[in-house]
Amino acid sequence: MKCPVCGSSSTHVIDTAREPSGGIRRRRECKACEKRFSTVERIVETMPLVVKRGGRREAFDRDKILSGLRTACAKRPVSADDIERLVDQVEAQVLALNKAEVLARDVGDQVLNALRSLDEVAYIRYASVYLHLKDLESVKREIEKLLAER
Ligand SMILES: [Zn+2]
Repeated sequence: MKCPVCGSSSTHVIDTAREPSGGIRRRRECKACEKRFSTVERIVETMPLVVKRGGRREAFDRDKILSGLRTACAKRPVSADDIERLVDQVEAQVLALNKAEVLARDVGDQVLNALRSLDEVAYIRYASVYLHLKDLESVKREIEKLLAER
């Protein structure tokens, strides 16, 4: 750890405390210039890789899910906060699996499940892209399923 004031790498920790956020705060002192400064270390949780249909793997892309949801929720009574919360929820669920890899399908299913209880029209829009509903007939079947569950 380099001193932010003089750049010396000769610093030492004088105090350590846990942050409410779960990080670790360390109070440090530079041995060269005697200035004190604090650092906060955070544990970076790593999301599992997402395995696509063809076996290709890619990083979990929160922004991609967000933008898909924003499109599906356009002009629907769903707030930006609702969408953020939904993605937070899915992200937490995926993280809780504690796996190195998850299937894209499983991630998509979780998004769909959460979206279904949020807004049915947005659900159908998202599902028609995500489930590759190719024609009106399959969209109709999906809507009938929804109605039957009411
Ligand atoms: Zn210094």
